[in-house]
Amino acid sequence: MRDEIIAAVKAAGVVGAGGAGFPAHLKINAAVDVVIANGAECEPLLRAHQHIMAAESTKLVIGLKTVMLATGARRGYIGLKRKYEAAVQSISTVLEHMKETEIQLFYLPDFYPAGDEQVLVHEVTGRIVPEGGIPLHVGVVVTNVETLVNITQALEGLPVIEKYVTVTGAVQHPLTVKVPIGLPVSEVIALAGGSLLTEYAVIDGGPMMGKLTTPDAPVTKTTGGIIVLPKDHSLVTEKSMAWNIVANRAKAVCCNCMACTDACPRHLLGHSLQPHRIMQAIGRGQLQETEVLTRAFLCSECGACDTFGCTMGLSPRRVNAELKRQFAKAGIRNPHHAAPPAVSGAREHRRIPTKRLLYRLGLDKYDVKAPISTPVFHVSEVRIPLSQHIGAPAKPVVELGATVQKGDTIGVIPEGAAVGANVHASISGQVITVADMIVIRAM
Ligand code: SF4
Ligand code: SF4
Repeated sequence: MRDEIIAAVKAAGVVGAGGAGFPAHLKINAAVDVVIANGAECEPLLRAHQHIMAAESTKLVIGLKTVMLATGARRGYIGLKRKYEAAVQSISTVLEHMKETEIQLFYLPDFYPAGDEQVLVHEVTGRIVPEGGIPLHVGVVVTNVETLVNITQALEGLPVIEKYVTVTGAVQHPLTVKVPIGLPVSEVIALAGGSLLTEYAVIDGGPMMGKLTTPDAPVTKTTGGIIVLPKDHSLVTEKSMAWNIVANRAKAVCCNCMACTDACPRHLLGHSLQPHRIMQAIGRGQLQETEVLTRAFLCSECGACDTFGCTMGLSPRRVNAELKRQFAKAGIRNPHHAAPPAVSGAREHRRIPTKRLLYRLGLDKYDVKAPISTPVFHVSEVRIPLSQHIGAPAKPVVELGATVQKGDTIGVIPEGAAVGANVHASISGQVITVADMIVIRAM
């Protein structure tokens, strides 16, 4: 049964829908005692996971049972917040109806980043993932709630061809909608009534960890939100700042006050990551201090240090990201793997309340409901990237001019690739481009 589950999930191209896009067939090919469904949705403004948990609660629970079966886990938790009332009600009803005794809801406090895998593991189980480790190292698999729905559908033979997306910010009618993968961002914004602004910037994902994108970019398997903001919003300025400016400001302005370290969720879990020491080494030009600088590998890039820690407008997150990139380029791997001694005693008081984060980000005016909606809309074309996941890009298996049906496999894991995911047609039509994206035009 386990092999069949893994084969079905692999065939359906299921990847982590919550951000990084790690192939699910590899993640669930493990032996653990606990599986956690991640329904924290800790990024401000996003609503998709709450709606998925309410609307697809049966598939969510079946997906969780499936992963427990594959991994041998005896305990399953659905981590979410009490304020997701519709989801709590819906899942509770399903669990009761199924007479489920191995799965229970776990109510998370309303803070950021409650959905960080390592934070979530600690909140739910009390275990601490070692430095540079993953939940598997403490006997836990964490899976996003939408991924679990996709796993259930994979067992029904349905590939991943659609994505739930919250469209919010400066749009007419914020909403959460399920769209075909490959639909341009501009058409998704149109489903929300269009932008309120003539000139705007778009973030793909949440305000903290999302990245700037363009209206013509396609929705992928990992697009969790589309946030429309004024071009001069501070978040847009920060995300678009050139690296040399980030670095120069770090050198010139950092007063080594430690506030970034005090706010760092990984530091508070007991990891040796101390962003202020990295900033200090950068500021003094001490680039030989690899013992300090390589601790950037322990950074999740959650941005708490920037937004909630630093009052000087600096970005230890960007510095850490750049250091990781440069170390990887130089072939240097993470040398830090110590088991943390204990969580910080200050952790409980330093968790960042979501509401306060919203105000800090200047997003409180956009903190509105984004109800689930099922508009009827025509799709004329989709552009489906062959790389929407961690690992090797899929190898195209359709030719230019071919006719494909919705759900057909159009890209497969290349032979010999250890990590990869299949890709499928999200609409029926004709293949008009085969490159790093496969473009399908409806006929
Ligand atoms: S909080 Fe800002 S100023 Fe203080 S040490 Fe960190 S980066 Fe430097
Ligand atoms: S982004 Fe900042 S707060 Fe988040 S883990 Fe990295 S150093 Fe810590």
